[in-house]
Amino acid sequence: MALAVTGLRPYISAKAMIYDLRPCFASRCEEDQEMKVKTWSFLPVVAFLLATTVALAFEAAPGVGPDAALQRLLEGNRSFVANRLTIKESSAPAKRLALASGQHPYAVILSCSDSRVPPEIIFNKGLGELFVVRDAGNVVDPLILGSIEYAVEHLGSSLIMVLGHSRCGAVKAALDATGHEDPNVGAIIKRIAPAVQLARKEIKGKDKSGLYESAIDFNIKLSAQALLSESPIIRSLVDSGKVRIVCAEYDVQDGTVKTMSCKMK
Ligand SMILES: [Zn+2]
Repeated sequence: MALAVTGLRPYISAKAMIYDLRPCFASRCEEDQEMKVKTWSFLPVVAFLLATTVALAFEAAPGVGPDAALQRLLEGNRSFVANRLTIKESSAPAKRLALASGQHPYAVILSCSDSRVPPEIIFNKGLGELFVVRDAGNVVDPLILGSIEYAVEHLGSSLIMVLGHSRCGAVKAALDATGHEDPNVGAIIKRIAPAVQLARKEIKGKDKSGLYESAIDFNIKLSAQALLSESPIIRSLVDSGKVRIVCAEYDVQDGTVKTMSCKMK
């Protein structure tokens, strides 16, 4: 007799009706139906199905374009500034469970490690929404590039935001650098140094705060440029329009994130 898979087999118990996902062969189905299956043994299957269903409801849909991703960030920042955070809801246990099977963060944030600039909070975003890469001074190196490439190539992120901030200690350290820094800190300062040089050219005289602001500005833009010049993968995705790079600065005092052109003045 031919074996035919007839699909899911319902079992009814006094406590619950659930479905056994094991294939049922026609030659044995009647016999199987008479078996009193221990329904509770299938609870893990039910839990998996529920988790998958919730995942579909919660996961950021793959295909969120760059413009929509940027809007989500800016809307989230407005909520943060207005003190209307919904992070508790967007990071609830059900969402954590749902995301266990996969992630599709729609935006990458390259930001400074500064404790006053946590991207998930200042953009009011929960689990699974942002792919965050941070270091002091939001500078680019191969580890940062590799991380971002992973997000845009394999996770479907469509927006890369380079996020600097006011009163950045790393930029200040680069402005005050003596050239005798320890190697690891020195590596960061070396990365910021071109921004300091550009700022010194732009800001003549003794306008220290202007120089500081200008260096922060240039540092954001140079990091954005480095994403393109040092990563053929990112360059290709940007050229094809699948990924967009946005430059932005966070104000540590008023909490706002303002976008800016990534082009040099
Ligand atoms: Zn900083």
